[in-house]
Amino acid sequence: MFATRFHEHGGPEVLRYEEVPDPTIGPGEVLVRVRACALNHLDLWQRRGLERVRIPLPHISGAEVAGEVVEGGPVGQRVLLQPGLSCGRCLACLSGDDNLCASYDVLGYQSDGGYAELVKVPAANLVPLPDGLGFVEAAAFPLTFLTAWHMLTTKAALRAGEVVLVLAAGNGVGQAAIQIARLLGARVLATAGGDDKLERARALGADEVIDHYDQDVVSEVRRLTAGRGVDVVIEHVGEATWPRSVRSLARGGRLVTCGATTGPRGEIDLRYLFAKQIALLGSYMGTKAELLRVARLFFTGRLRPVVDTRFPLAAAADAHRRLEARQAFGKIVLEC
Ligand code: ZN
Repeated sequence: MFATRFHEHGGPEVLRYEEVPDPTIGPGEVLVRVRACALNHLDLWQRRGLERVRIPLPHISGAEVAGEVVEGGPVGQRVLLQPGLSCGRCLACLSGDDNLCASYDVLGYQSDGGYAELVKVPAANLVPLPDGLGFVEAAAFPLTFLTAWHMLTTKAALRAGEVVLVLAAGNGVGQAAIQIARLLGARVLATAGGDDKLERARALGADEVIDHYDQDVVSEVRRLTAGRGVDVVIEHVGEATWPRSVRSLARGGRLVTCGATTGPRGEIDLRYLFAKQIALLGSYMGTKAELLRVARLFFTGRLRPVVDTRFPLAAAADAHRRLEARQAFGKIVLEC
């Protein structure tokens, strides 16, 4: 098969489109012909190299996949793939908390992923795709919406009528969180950079938008909430936005974070933490059951992943450049 992989860490130029051996499946695994695979920031970290995680080389990235089963399962079935890999036997897995499994992995992180014509996954990771939904749109869905769903429902326990601040509306998690929070009955404040992105955030369902380049986010949040602050902040930006995110919270507010794109350090004044009774919540992916739950809303048209651009698999380096330049609104998808 052909795949785009890297043999050493570095810039987008290390990505090579080349012929590689087909994956071979073991018991309980299925082989899927990849039709589309969406990019994530995780792909960029892998390619650049991580301090604490060794990525097996050469490596094929890609966590968000849609395609067709070709071996080991219902041949010809159109599917999207659960992006989380877990042992299926431990206490966490059997309690339905598979994203807390000690051997939890994301497809394409330690394992080979979807920047390829073929990918193998456990049969439990297949989610049948209804007719009428395209592969590109389906590939833009699983990791992004699963992450946003887990953050808003399980972690933040969002209730109808609450106010949510979603950072970086153009990011994959951002566009998903706006839609989910709105569907759950929240009032949504969203930040983005530039008029075009702000307009698109509104079109997705944001009630209010804040330009994070031109406006002071904290004072805008206070103005828009009559001085109260928001009940929930959806964070994934990290160091650059952390102080503002903390200060945007109302009493009893919850800050949920799933990423640190701009850097890993965040400070908090402990007096502020206890006096305002704030909760800081870390979130990573979500459970298999949660993906099935949020997928129903996708399959019935109530959630729609935003596709920014499509690139052929051979041009994955250009796709990485676009993601790194933060030009995208929504998901960048590779087609193969
Ligand atoms: Zn497990």
